[in-house]
Amino acid sequence: MSGDRSSTAARSTATPKAASSGAIILDGKAFAAQVRQAVALHAGEFASRFGRPPGLAVIKVGEDPASCVYVKSKRKACSEGGIASFEHDLPAATTEAQLITLVYALNHDDRVDGILVQLPLPNGTDANRVMDAIDPAKDVDGFHPVNTGLLAQKRPKLRPCTPYGVIRLAEGYGIALRGLRATVVGASNIVGRPMALELLLAGATVTVCHTGTRDLRAEVERAEVLVAAVGKAGFIPGEWIRPGAAVFDVGINRIAPGKLVGDVEYEPAARRAGWITPVPGGVGPMTIAMLLSNAVAAAFMRAGGKN
Ligand code: NAP
Repeated sequence: MSGDRSSTAARSTATPKAASSGAIILDGKAFAAQVRQAVALHAGEFASRFGRPPGLAVIKVGEDPASCVYVKSKRKACSEGGIASFEHDLPAATTEAQLITLVYALNHDDRVDGILVQLPLPNGTDANRVMDAIDPAKDVDGFHPVNTGLLAQKRPKLRPCTPYGVIRLAEGYGIALRGLRATVVGASNIVGRPMALELLLAGATVTVCHTGTRDLRAEVERAEVLVAAVGKAGFIPGEWIRPGAAVFDVGINRIAPGKLVGDVEYEPAARRAGWITPVPGGVGPMTIAMLLSNAVAAAFMRAGGKN
């Protein structure tokens, strides 16, 4: 990209807004709304062909405030998208065995095409054992080892919502990822690692950074595409951003009541970047849109119909 975003910029299918700084703001909220409209049409098509709407079961355990907010918005998004939502709000004292029994029951419930277990789970519950119990065909989060493995083998099926949302947003803005040097900061199972696999699938040359990375600044400075998924407010200084880079900030950090910021120091980064996602309104809305998209895709795949 060499400081000139025109080398990778192609036609934009969304409506880009120029930031006062010059970076294009990747408007995840607006783009996700377009995706959700298309998904709702697709859900309607499924309902008319198969006599029922696609169904998504959302399991919440306990009353973690952030989880309550996320689950509420996911359920609302389902009803707006023509997807039936099956609600399972369980007390914090629910045991791992009870949770797995519920997952097995939902695996066998034909009205349910997708199962989502909201994380984090209360202490004492092994999230891996619970997630592994989900039928991979209903794993709309794309976290199951089978779906991660398929992505690693270049034959993705149900793709992880946040990383897939980043890819779709890049595509929507005409950012051609193939050949670009991409750096992912964060290597978790739910964001960083699958993000690296998605970028690799898109043809980028990928570096993944974590707490063992020796010179994080050098890795970030080389990045033509940067994805930050650390979970620390303003962790990546704006001055580290390569001029013209595409910056996707996955981080969601609450620094005061009602005040969310990302992992990248936004203002100075936006002065250097070619494209940047705001927080909120960037990657977050895409995550929900991709969840709905996966639910409808899972419904079609389970019904043996075209997706
Ligand atoms: P996580 O499980 O805590 O992982 C954080 C990652 O950052 C780890 O890989 C860790 O490295 C790395 N890290 C931490 N400190 C570092 C440092 N000083 N230098 C380099 N790497 C460092 O978090 P997560 O679940 O991936 O989530 C990350 C952020 O994304 C959070 O803010 C979360 O709320 C947000 N999120 C947003 C969405 C969305 O829809 N926008 C979805 C999911 C998550 P190690 O592996 O070495 O420990």
